[in-house]
Amino acid sequence: MNLKSGNDPDVIEELQILIVEDVAVEAEIAARYLQKHGIQCHICCVATEAEFLRALGEHPPHLILSDYTLPDFDGVRALNLAMAHAPDVPFIFVSGTIGEERAIDALRRGATDYVLKDNLARLGPAVERALREVRFKIAKRDAEHMLRDIVATSQDWIWQLDRDGCFTFCSPAVHKILGYKPEAMLGQRFDRYLDEEFAVSVDSLLPVLSGTKSTLTGVAARWRHADGQFRWLERNAISLHDDKGKPIGYRGIDRDITQRREQQTRIQRLSRSHRMLSSINSAILRVRGRADLFQEACRIAVDQGGYDRAMVSQVDPVAGELRAVAWSGARSEFLERSATSLQVAASDPFDMNLQALLSGVAMVSDDLSQVAAQSAFKNAMLDLGFRSCVVLPLAVDHTPIGTLMLNSTQTSMLDTAELRVLQELAANIGYALQYFDKEDAVQFLSYFDSVTGLAKRSLFCDRFARSLSAATGGDASGAAASGAVASPVAVVVFDVQRLSLVNDSLGRDVGDRLLEQIAERLKNHFGDARSVAHFGGGTFAAFFSDLVDPAQTGRLLHNEAARFFADPFLIEGRELRASIRSGFAYYPGDGRTADTVVQSAEAALTRAKQIGTPYVLHSLMGRDADHGRLALESRLSGALQREELLLYYQPQVDIDTGRIVGVEALMRWRDKQQGLVLPGVFIPLLESMGLIVDAGRWAIEQAAADCRAWRALGAVDLRCSVNVSALQLRERDFVERVIAATGSAPGESMPIDLELTESMLMHDLESSTQKFETLRRAGLRIAIDDFGTGYSSLQHLARLPIDTLKIDRSFVQGIVDNPHDRSIVATIIQLAKQFAMSTVAEGVETDEQLSLLREMRCDQAQGYLFSQPVTAAGITQMLREAGYS
Ligand code: C2E
Ligand code: MG
Ligand code: MG
Repeated sequence: MNLKSGNDPDVIEELQILIVEDVAVEAEIAARYLQKHGIQCHICCVATEAEFLRALGEHPPHLILSDYTLPDFDGVRALNLAMAHAPDVPFIFVSGTIGEERAIDALRRGATDYVLKDNLARLGPAVERALREVRFKIAKRDAEHMLRDIVATSQDWIWQLDRDGCFTFCSPAVHKILGYKPEAMLGQRFDRYLDEEFAVSVDSLLPVLSGTKSTLTGVAARWRHADGQFRWLERNAISLHDDKGKPIGYRGIDRDITQRREQQTRIQRLSRSHRMLSSINSAILRVRGRADLFQEACRIAVDQGGYDRAMVSQVDPVAGELRAVAWSGARSEFLERSATSLQVAASDPFDMNLQALLSGVAMVSDDLSQVAAQSAFKNAMLDLGFRSCVVLPLAVDHTPIGTLMLNSTQTSMLDTAELRVLQELAANIGYALQYFDKEDAVQFLSYFDSVTGLAKRSLFCDRFARSLSAATGGDASGAAASGAVASPVAVVVFDVQRLSLVNDSLGRDVGDRLLEQIAERLKNHFGDARSVAHFGGGTFAAFFSDLVDPAQTGRLLHNEAARFFADPFLIEGRELRASIRSGFAYYPGDGRTADTVVQSAEAALTRAKQIGTPYVLHSLMGRDADHGRLALESRLSGALQREELLLYYQPQVDIDTGRIVGVEALMRWRDKQQGLVLPGVFIPLLESMGLIVDAGRWAIEQAAADCRAWRALGAVDLRCSVNVSALQLRERDFVERVIAATGSAPGESMPIDLELTESMLMHDLESSTQKFETLRRAGLRIAIDDFGTGYSSLQHLARLPIDTLKIDRSFVQGIVDNPHDRSIVATIIQLAKQFAMSTVAEGVETDEQLSLLREMRCDQAQGYLFSQPVTAAGITQMLREAGYS
């Protein structure tokens, strides 16, 4: 019976001693000696082998004392039995003289000690020493067991090397980590298993061998698994020394950190691709033309995306070649001459460039060396030292026109998130090309917000409509969607609160950085920038699908959005916190088309701002709102008859001469309850009530009459612009009504300009063209209002009979501080000149804006700098002051 650690001699209450002795008195004496020495014990005395074995089995002792010679038993026999049955129990001979030889033999056989009967004073110390030794032995064995268990079960690889770096021990974990059996590694040098391409000096993976112990901590290295894959291991190690301090080897632990490392790399690379995307988006706004964009895209991919080489190839349909047209990075020197015949490429089963071009799908190879196919493309890449490759097709109007190839000398694991970012990037380049092709950067600019690189409202609505029609299988872009979506789709429009405070107190730049960072977070959060937008001025939007319960999701989404803004934004060392208000609307409940759902969400946001709540669901805006609207509508319905509608006018000034050359008529409603109501509130109501046509005709009549009166004062060329609603334009007899409303006699010069928005024109290009031509023949002029915010392509506008572009106030406001806005305005003015159109800058508020516009050769300006909209009498007064009478 073993003396177990549970039977620890340290915690023995009473020592059990088995005494092998035929003379009972002798046993008593021995016990007394022990007691005298302070050792309390219980004695069991046996004299035969049978008694001895029984006692071992029934009362396992802590210690055995045995006589050497007994009449019916034998001390040596007892010792042998004890070694066999209770090897941990100390065995001490207590006997008369037995001679030195026998004593040595007894000790050799395992006896712990030997005490002479005539010197029993030694018994106490001998027993104590024996118990101490056994205690020590057990503790050591336990520690060994523990270590062995740890080594056997550890997920980390524990190893030992000799001084030459050859394994002398390997724990079983290495099999799981590197795929090798531990036995197979013994005697092998450790660096044999390192990834040879991972250039690391072997010395850096071992502690220094010197006279003193040295350690090495947290050193990462790349190893090769038996299956050829890589593993990243992090090492901690210590040098080993013999008794004299001479170094004899190393011992250490390697931990598999591959997953952690890959995760880190993935995050790093993903954020690098996001940076690359946003740089390319801003390049799109900056550069002019295809070649510059390609070159810039390659440069950004290498400098910011961390790729070793980037190359754009373009199809030359005449030569039947795919030709490198822009490149950047390592081993680009041959590219000048690089062109691949499409026919030759087609015979290569693995020409990623051609495959991406033909399929329109991104091609990815994480490790070219693993590609089994015989391929000239693969060989060429490997010869150049590239191990991984991504090829993104570039398409214009869904037609592939070329590719963007990104190479790396490392193998890589491109995950779906990163690939999505790269695809978006290629899509944006394609999108830009579409407009460069038409020499129409303006239209592109009107799609993307230059601060955040996100879609503007119109593009967002477009994308949302497309996603709805994909979900419904119908067309939700204009008419009501034909199919039904499986679950509601939500649009959230949210406003960053107090953005103007940031702009005013910290500068517009800081405000822009904040918007940029918010956009960045949104992009990361949604993973797909196509479902988010910046409508401008700190108003963002996003759409979601697969919602369960609209009433619930509003709250959930708002809470999620609030969490999303919980962390502060770090801008120029300053921590800024942003909070938001949101409006939610759902398809199909809150609108049957993409546009109306977005409008509903905007209306909900407006409501949230009015009543000061964090968010409002459009569907729950409630009867209260309907009630208010009904009351407003009923008052508005008779407004025209009651002559409550009136026109205010805002002067338009010739930038060169400073003279008032025109005025814009802006409608007001003098409501008995609310006082002067602005058109933003009541024009949509007039439209929805079908009253806009009459109100619009009245406005033209009134404006023409007022303008004639001013002309009579001597301002003979003065013109008056009148805003026209889409519903008026759609009237079949629009042209006749307008001409009649002007009240002009035949031959009399027509004083009226019509202001229309871009989207109105694009709606029905053919019939618009005809209508405008007739109107112009009658002497009216046509102006495009709020230019730059809508959809129109200048190419189309050039074909339309248009006289004037009114540059939207949002661009004019930004021209002093924002280089993007400045370049947009400059481009609009230049292009307008090419098409012989005049330009009016809207919303001019400062002298700086005016002088920049003058430099850009803008024709006219309108805005608070000159005057707020005033009554007709106010204009008369101004003209008088200007010398007319
Ligand atoms: P709009 O045609 O673009 O008119 C310019 C708007 O900008 C006016 O707002 C004007 O007051 C404002 N504005 C002018 N200069 C400045 C400036 O320096 N700074 C700022 N912050 N604002 C400036 P208003 O009068 O509220 O008109 C809003 C819109 O309502 C007009 O935009 C136009 O689209 C529409 N509208 C006005 N009158 C009529 C009308 O008779 N018929 C139709 N269909 N729409 C009208
Ligand atoms: Mg206008
Ligand atoms: Mg305008």
